[in-house]
Amino acid sequence: MSRFLDKRYKGLTPYVPGEQPQDKKYIKLNTNESPFEASPKVVNAINSDEVKKLYLYNDPTAKVLRETIANYYGVALDNVAVSNGSDEILAFAFNAFCGKNTPMVCPVVSYGFYPVFCEMFSIPYVAVDMKDDLSIDLEKFYDVDGNVTIANPNAQTGTLLSVNEIEELLKKKKDNVVIVDEAYIDFGGESCLPLIKKYDNLLVVRTFSKSRNMAGARLGFAIGSEELIKDVEKMKYSFNPYNVNRLTQIAGIEAIKDDEYFKLCTNYVRDVREYTVNKLKELGCEVIPSKANFVLAKLNGISGEDLYKRLKDEGVLVRFLGDALLSDYVRITIGKREMMDTLVAKIIDIKRGL
Ligand code: PMP
Repeated sequence: MSRFLDKRYKGLTPYVPGEQPQDKKYIKLNTNESPFEASPKVVNAINSDEVKKLYLYNDPTAKVLRETIANYYGVALDNVAVSNGSDEILAFAFNAFCGKNTPMVCPVVSYGFYPVFCEMFSIPYVAVDMKDDLSIDLEKFYDVDGNVTIANPNAQTGTLLSVNEIEELLKKKKDNVVIVDEAYIDFGGESCLPLIKKYDNLLVVRTFSKSRNMAGARLGFAIGSEELIKDVEKMKYSFNPYNVNRLTQIAGIEAIKDDEYFKLCTNYVRDVREYTVNKLKELGCEVIPSKANFVLAKLNGISGEDLYKRLKDEGVLVRFLGDALLSDYVRITIGKREMMDTLVAKIIDIKRGL
């Protein structure tokens, strides 16, 4: 830390992204990426003609991309805002709707960035306890003051809330913004997007990083009432108007158009998730029921941290999250079936040695 860092950031603990090793080749099951390459339509569209245009600024309104997203989800252009990854739009929303006297309320086990945004923007952060089975205890949110952010399926656990449950929350919190982060919804959950027509306090946040195979392109978006979107865009235009670069705008449009590839990839991941869960259970692992592209699992007789380290030594990278409630668990991204077979074989070896 330099002596120049402002004192309000001295206590800030930044978010730690999962490992992205650039040297050794691992079976990479640690950051919930898709195991599939970007759609061939995306690959074809990012051609040398488009690269040459990088000398020009991109469209700050990202109109064609937003139109494509709006048409796909059956909403209007003004219901959509786009961002440099969904992290950015979450940051805009936290900043726009919370403040010194308006806390953000989240489940205690969720996406690790939520409390970091709060610290960064001096927003009081309220963590709500989970049920014993690590699912979200929604009723506990009803009477807590502040806006709410819920990842659905939840980050780290993969548990899913129904649209009816979300609707109940929207009614109970009608004077607060409810952000539903649907980063993982395409892997088997029902989206609450249709509720935006009925509830002006709902902001749904999505990403191209998981189900649309484009983590490295950094593209996220939010859908909500025109007024909420205007507020989010106010943050964008006060921070980085050109937030979605030229090539990513093209990639996003093409990825949305390739619905067949999207369905193929997401269905594959769902099938392999069920296959993996069965294999892990056969091994005696405890697995939290997940509707995401990852599962949280524990193996009796070994801590989450040790299991992570042993698997890493064997060339398989999973995520140890370190939260107090998750110390027995590792989070395993669902990859291709052969990757999961290798993981299972390694766990069998580790279990033998316990
Ligand atoms: N929300 C959740 C729940 C996540 O797990 C992640 C990815 N780590 C994000 C948002 C951010 O994704 P991205 O910035 O890649 O769109």
